[in-house]
Amino acid sequence: MKILQDLSYQEICSLAERMGGKPFRARQIYEGLMQGKSISALPLPQAMRSALLSEYADEPVKIKEVFTAKDGTKKYLFELWDGNLIEGVLMSYQYGNTQCVSTQVGCRMGCKFCASTLGGRVRDLTAGEMLSEILAVNRSEGGTPKERKVTNVVLMGSGEPFDNYDEVVKFLRNLTAEGGIHISARNISLSTCGLVPQMRRFAEEGIPLNLTVSLHATSDEERRRTMPIANRYSIAEILDACSYYFEKTGRRYIFEYSLIEGENADMVHAEKLASLLRGRPCHVNLIRLNPVKERNLKGTDERTAQMFLRTLTSLGISATLRRSMGSDIGGACGQLRARYVSRISSH
Ligand code: SAH
Repeated sequence: MKILQDLSYQEICSLAERMGGKPFRARQIYEGLMQGKSISALPLPQAMRSALLSEYADEPVKIKEVFTAKDGTKKYLFELWDGNLIEGVLMSYQYGNTQCVSTQVGCRMGCKFCASTLGGRVRDLTAGEMLSEILAVNRSEGGTPKERKVTNVVLMGSGEPFDNYDEVVKFLRNLTAEGGIHISARNISLSTCGLVPQMRRFAEEGIPLNLTVSLHATSDEERRRTMPIANRYSIAEILDACSYYFEKTGRRYIFEYSLIEGENADMVHAEKLASLLRGRPCHVNLIRLNPVKERNLKGTDERTAQMFLRTLTSLGISATLRRSMGSDIGGACGQLRARYVSRISSH
């Protein structure tokens, strides 16, 4: 099945024309889709609706379950049109609601601390499936394209966005398009484990979003222990690619650093991290590792995390310690899907 939400407004115009529809049909289809409607729910003549349904998935991404944490964070389990499961999270902050979007079913990057990669990569998501994650949540929260309930987007769900480069870029173009759900690049963050060639290529796409790199270590040797991708690209190459991104977009970049007990969270690590990043237009997001049952790694305690933060900031590095949200509902990447898939397969 094809995905109608893959198409831009212009592409829907040509499709409607090819189908012999009146010009206003294209706008009707596009507006309906942006409201999160399925094809069956679009106000179209029966013949046109059936023609669409014979080629395109009616509702590519369906909300299967919603879990609400004590802190209000919502975790969504989505079912794709082909039965695959992915997950998403909606976190509310003072400035709005941030949705965390998956870019692949599973992941093949193999990071030791991450539940998303446990079963490998099943398949890539298309641009329209990623967009539909947002359309479905916005609708379910009572939002519309004009009065959005999803105001910010982070590509930090399951998957490595730059391992699915073309679809992710297309998704970002449709997400930021005027007339659609229209979320500005400034309100979007893309997190990568550091695929250097794609980082450089992305700098040239003209999408000035918040580029975030999962660093999690202060030397290549350490990084190779938890992140297999470190065998391919060095931290020095990553930093060069970040500088290039800044040069092209004027946007400062962000490093994710998950604090893992006995691994990367000593004060010598904070000092090494500071000297690595000093003088760079960047910010460090610290988070205590969310323990993953299948992995033998633990997060640090709150006190160590606070000390790490203080050391970094006293050395002149802009940094924040993120609250771990939704941990009582399996908020970390891939946890919910992993649990769900194993629950299903154990039946
Ligand atoms: N593949 C991309 C985006 C997905 S993960 C990337 O690697 O950046 C989003 C962030 O969560 C990454 O920084 C990832 O390293 C981190 N992460 C994964 N599992 C985690 C866990 N159990 N606890 C804390 N952070 C985790």
